[in-house]
Amino acid sequence: MAASQFTSPATFRRLLGYVKPYRLGFAAAAFGMLGYALVDVFFISQLEDFIDIGINQKNTDYLRYAPLFIIGIFILRGVFNFIASYCLNWVGTHAVQEMRQQLFRHYMRLPVSFHDQHSTGELISKVTYNTEQIKQATSKALAVLLREGVFVIGLLVMMFWISWQLSSIFLLIAPVIAIVVRLVSKRFRLLSRNIQGAMGEVTTCSEQMLNGHKVILSFGGQQIEEQRFATVNNLTRRQDVKMEATRAISVSSIQIIASFALAFVIYMASFPEMLDSLTAGKFTTIVGSMMMLLRPLKQLTTVNSEFQRGLTAANSVFEVLDQPVEQDTGTTVLDNVSGNIQFNNVNFSYPGHDKQVLFDISFNAAAGKTIALVGRSGSGKTTISSLLPRFYEVTDGDILIDGHNIRDCTLASLRRQLAVVSQHVTLFNDSIANNITYGCTEPVSREHLLQVAEKAHVLEFAENLKDGLDTVIGENGVSLSGGQRQRIAIARALLREAPILVLDEATSALDTESERKIQAALNELLKGRTSIVIAHRLSTIENADSIIVMDQGRIVEQGDHATLLAQDGAYAQLYKLQFGEQQ
Ligand code: ADP
Ligand code: MG
Repeated sequence: MAASQFTSPATFRRLLGYVKPYRLGFAAAAFGMLGYALVDVFFISQLEDFIDIGINQKNTDYLRYAPLFIIGIFILRGVFNFIASYCLNWVGTHAVQEMRQQLFRHYMRLPVSFHDQHSTGELISKVTYNTEQIKQATSKALAVLLREGVFVIGLLVMMFWISWQLSSIFLLIAPVIAIVVRLVSKRFRLLSRNIQGAMGEVTTCSEQMLNGHKVILSFGGQQIEEQRFATVNNLTRRQDVKMEATRAISVSSIQIIASFALAFVIYMASFPEMLDSLTAGKFTTIVGSMMMLLRPLKQLTTVNSEFQRGLTAANSVFEVLDQPVEQDTGTTVLDNVSGNIQFNNVNFSYPGHDKQVLFDISFNAAAGKTIALVGRSGSGKTTISSLLPRFYEVTDGDILIDGHNIRDCTLASLRRQLAVVSQHVTLFNDSIANNITYGCTEPVSREHLLQVAEKAHVLEFAENLKDGLDTVIGENGVSLSGGQRQRIAIARALLREAPILVLDEATSALDTESERKIQAALNELLKGRTSIVIAHRLSTIENADSIIVMDQGRIVEQGDHATLLAQDGAYAQLYKLQFGEQQ
C-alpha cells in the first residue's frame, strides 16, 4: 500500500473523530490528568515554604502539619490517577472497538480486486495488531502526553514565578528540545511503518504455512518455510531494535540538553548579586524542579515513540477505510427475472493486470436454457462466471439480464438472482444445516431442509455423522471430503431458488458414481432456470442447449453437441480425447 498519504496532524484530527462520541469520558480523563499534574506541581511548590518556614525558622507547627498534608495530597493524587486511567482506557477501547468494526465491515464491501491484491495476513494484521497500537496511542500515550505535559508546563510556570532570571535559560533550551523531538518523531513514524509492515508479513507467512501445512509436509518444505519466516521475523526484530535505539538516544540527548539548564542555574547562583536575592528555599525549589523535569522529559520522549506508532497504525487503517467500496450506483432492482442473459462484445482484463483475459465475448442464454462453457484451463471460463455477479466490472461491452444492463442494477438484487456453485467451496465453521441455509433471509422449515439435503445427497453422509445435519463441520469443513463439501454447496444453491444458476466445475470433486446421482439432482435444479455450466467432463453437458467452446479468452465454437461433433472442430477434438481416456 502507498506510504502515508496524510500528514500526522490530519491523522490525529481524524483519530480524534473516533473519540468525539465519548468526549464526556475524555473530559473526565483530562480533568483527572490535569488534577494529577497540578497536585504534583503544588507539592513541589510547597518545598520553598517547607525549607524557609519549617526548617530555617524552626516553625514546629508548620512541620507537624506537613505529614498530614503529604498523606492528603497522595490520596488526592491517587484519586485523580484512577479517574484519568479508567476514563482514558474506556475512551480508547471504545474508539478501537469502533475502528475494528468499521474495518471488518469495510473489508466485506471492498471489491474482489482489492482482496486479490492484498494478502489475507496483511489485512488480518491490521484488524488485530494495528488497531491495538492505536489503542496504546489513544490511551496510554495520550495520558502520559497530557499528564506529563501539564506537569512540565506547571513546573516551568512555577520556576518563572520564583525567579524569572534563572528560569529564562529555558527560553533558549526549549527550541533545541523541540527540534530534537521533531526529528525523532519523524524517524519513529518511519520505523513504525516498517514494523507494522513486517508484522503483516509475519502474519501472512504464518497463515500461508498453516493453510498449506499438508503440502509442506508432503513436499518436505519445512526448511524453506522456516527460512522464509526467519527472514521476516528477523526484519521485525531489527526494526524494533532500531526503534529502541532511537528512543534511548533521544531520551539521553534531551536530558543532556536539559542538564545545560541546570548547570547554568548553579553557575548563575555563584554570583553574589544573585545569591542575595535567593533564599535557600527558592534555590532548592528551582534546582529540585529542574531535576524533577528530567523524569517527565524522559517519559515524554519515550511515549512519543508509542504515540507515533499509533499515528502510523491509524494511518494504515485509514488508508484501507478510504479505499472505494464496490460500485453500487445502479438503481434498477431486479426481481424474479426470467433469466435471459446476454453478453455483448465483452472484453476484460483483471484490474491491475495488463494481460487481456476475455476477447469480444458475445452469446445469448435464453431464459430457462442451459449453456455449457468448455475449454482448456485458463481459457477464461471462471472469469466469465465472475463477471455475472459483478465481482469484477467488464472493461468493455455489456452484460444484460432480461434486457437490464447489470451495471444499472443494485448489487444486492443482482446477486439475489444468482446461485453460484464454484470449484472452491467455502464452508463456515457451523453445522451442516446452517451452512446449507446460509444467507437465507427467511427461516427454512426442517422439512424443506431435509428435502433439499436429500436431493443434493447430503443426507446420505450426514446420517452417519454424530449429530446428523446439525454436526458442526469445523473451519471450512475440514472434516469433510471434497465431494461432501460440494454436495453441501449444491444443497445451498438448491435452497436459494434463484432464477440463474452458475455451476463452475461443481461436480469436479465427485467420483463418477456420486456424480451420476447428483446429476439427477442437478438436472432437476436446472429445470426452469437459466444455467451456465462449466464442466470438465464433457459427458455431463451433452444435453446442454448450447455449448460454447473457449480458447485463450475467445469463443471459438458454439452450438449443440451434435452440431459441434459434426463440425469436427475443437469440441470434437476435446470430446475424442476424453472418449479415448475412458476407453
Ligand atoms: P478457467 O476457469 O477457464 O480455467 P480462468 O477464468 O480462471 O480460466 O482464468 C483465465 C485467465 O485469467 C488465466 O490466464 C488466469 O491466469 C487469469 N486470472 C484468473 N484469475 C485472476 C485474478 N484474480 N487476477 C488476475 N488474473 C487472473
Ligand atoms: Mg476455472
